[in-house]
Amino acid sequence: MGRIFLDHPGGSRLYSCAQCDTALTNRSLLTSMRFNGATGRAFLFKKVVNLSYSEVQDREMLTGRHMVRDVFCKNCDTKLGWMYEYATEESQQYKEGQVILERALVTESEGIRELLNSDTVKGISMFGTAVLKSFLIYLYVYVCFYYLLPFIKENLSSVNKQYMKATMSQSIFY
Ligand SMILES: [Zn+2]
Repeated sequence: MGRIFLDHPGGSRLYSCAQCDTALTNRSLLTSMRFNGATGRAFLFKKVVNLSYSEVQDREMLTGRHMVRDVFCKNCDTKLGWMYEYATEESQQYKEGQVILERALVTESEGIRELLNSDTVKGISMFGTAVLKSFLIYLYVYVCFYYLLPFIKENLSSVNKQYMKATMSQSIFY
């Protein structure tokens, strides 16, 4: 058996196979959440990737007769739902080419937005570092001007005083 080629649907909210975490589709491709599958609630998607398909089957459903294919995860072979190939009822034909995924068999997670978020975090931390650097420089300059300068001044004036004393004692001496 060859290596399985897996596609990535992209998008901000991903739906993945609950069994093996293979990404299948995203929120922007969701048509409806009001469907029912074998395990309960099911979602209808315009497009789903990383699936394998069964042969076409003729199925009688609550909404009429449909030609469908069961769909399986391409990676782990779990049955995830079905795809509508053909609907006899005109009102149901919008479903043709679309895929039902059973809610219980997929997991919803943050997709591309996570990457954007980590970029934002990186940006913020870089900005933070820049702010911290300029703060440290400011602190250094502050310490220099407000603590070291008076200290130097004081030392200079004490040198002056000593000089004055020396000249005064000299003047007394002479
Ligand atoms: Zn899977």
